[in-house]
Amino acid sequence: MARTVSNVVSMMGDFGKTISSEKRVCSDHGAYTDFLTGLGKARPAVWSGCQQCAEERRAEADRIEQEKIIRENTRRSIESRVGRSCIPPRFSDRTFANFRVSSAEQKQAANICREYAENFPAHAQRGRSLMLLGNVGTGKTHLATAVGNHIIREFSLAALYVTAGSVIRHVKSSFDRDTAHNEVQAYQLFAAPDLLILDEVGVQNATEFERTVMFELINSRYEAMKPTIVISNRGRDELPTYMGDRVVDRLRENGGKLVLFTWESQRGKEGF
Ligand SMILES: [Zn+2]
Repeated sequence: MARTVSNVVSMMGDFGKTISSEKRVCSDHGAYTDFLTGLGKARPAVWSGCQQCAEERRAEADRIEQEKIIRENTRRSIESRVGRSCIPPRFSDRTFANFRVSSAEQKQAANICREYAENFPAHAQRGRSLMLLGNVGTGKTHLATAVGNHIIREFSLAALYVTAGSVIRHVKSSFDRDTAHNEVQAYQLFAAPDLLILDEVGVQNATEFERTVMFELINSRYEAMKPTIVISNRGRDELPTYMGDRVVDRLRENGGKLVLFTWESQRGKEGF
């Protein structure tokens, strides 16, 4: 049977119609009229509830959506400023919450890094850096990138993670005649972020050239009062060989902290 206009209307029944209304009192907004609205034959009619409550819910949903858009735009502008994704995907989920702590030393290292992240604006104002030194697999990169992720998310600041090797390659390539960046621009890239995480210091050969690059890098950030987190598998006494004494001095100035990761490698254990 073909549907006619009249039997479609009858199938819709009371859809959208106000069936009845009652005076009620909202605990937040006082007296209001509650309307019972039909939703057709298939579904039961619904009460509208307090109109001001509904309006507030809509406004709150709009506000959350707006904040999300602003945060996303901020993140994108940071990423375009530093020219790449700030923290590599494999470290982007590293937080303090998912750092496994099973000894007092690990707890202390995590607490220092967490405090540094949570009070980053104050530390940054003084150009205060961190050095995380110790064995492979002890969670240094995890905690450093947790600091980076925290300041990106909580303060909308720019954090850039690089290895010492990639910095040296980047500066070296600026000497080639056909590269897009010159030496000054090469350093500018690493001087721009609010926090630079410099990993794998001491993996390279400790040449004079590499010490010079490390000095230029750390010094340009030091002069701009921008902190750096230096990560190395080398010990406190070996670090000057790879970075030079002046760099280590710069990193220790203004209360820069040295954190030693002295425990065994946790790799292969759950959570690492
Ligand atoms: Zn209400």
